[in-house]
Amino acid sequence: MSKEALVALLLGLLLVPLLFLLLLEPDQGGPLAFPQGPTAWHSTVVQAGDTLSDIADRYGVPLAYLVATNDLFDPRALLPGQEIIVPSGGVVHTVKPGQTLADLALTYGVTEEAISAANGGVGELVPGERLLIPHPSRVPQAAALELGPPRAGFIWPLRGRFTSGFGPRTHPVYGGSDFHTGIDLAVPVGTPVRAAAPGEVIWAGWRGNYGLLVVLDHQNGYSTYYAHLSQLRVSPGQFVELGQVVALSGNSGLSTGPHLHFEIRRWGEPLDPLPLLP
Ligand SMILES: [Zn+2]
Repeated sequence: MSKEALVALLLGLLLVPLLFLLLLEPDQGGPLAFPQGPTAWHSTVVQAGDTLSDIADRYGVPLAYLVATNDLFDPRALLPGQEIIVPSGGVVHTVKPGQTLADLALTYGVTEEAISAANGGVGELVPGERLLIPHPSRVPQAAALELGPPRAGFIWPLRGRFTSGFGPRTHPVYGGSDFHTGIDLAVPVGTPVRAAAPGEVIWAGWRGNYGLLVVLDHQNGYSTYYAHLSQLRVSPGQFVELGQVVALSGNSGLSTGPHLHFEIRRWGEPLDPLPLLP
């Protein structure tokens, strides 16, 4: 074999794995072939007079993505000089304590595999870590644009007709004196019930007079209760984001008609939710 032929053979052998890698690359990306890792977002500084919608338009990013990426639930609270993240190809999510990859997949309606692929592989999540959620099929935080913006961290779980307030009352079923530990919002059965704040599901099931109940722990002493439900959308241990649908409303348990009974508790003590809601 000539020297030239040997060199050509060696080069050929080197090229095979290279070609292999090149061929594999688009497959790994698949439909998620967009900038990965740190190139999937950049920061920008808010100019005087900018609204969140202006910035969304300027960069061609859905408003919901900007809201979720920056936890900017109140578009009016935007300050000139403030730095915000402009995501590309999805939502850039900052991991909260207790949040797992499985939780994020459920929150945004994206597979764990897709999230992992978009971030060049994902290990154990670390609070504060930023992950690109590629092309989410839902962005629950956008609910704050309709139900919020949050006050004291809470949004309304839904919009309904206010039928009973917090505090002493005559019991609607038994007639005797009663203390109403939450508020009642009349809505048709099947209305989506949204997490009033981000947190962990600590109860999702039947509980006595509450009927079908979801309880969220917000990790700061606060918890919220969603009662008389018809269908659950979450399970215990799951971490949900603000605005995420946790259940469908109903008329289960001790209830006089289709409505949501909603409570906010601090260290287990029921509070009047109204001063804490937008
Ligand atoms: Zn009630």
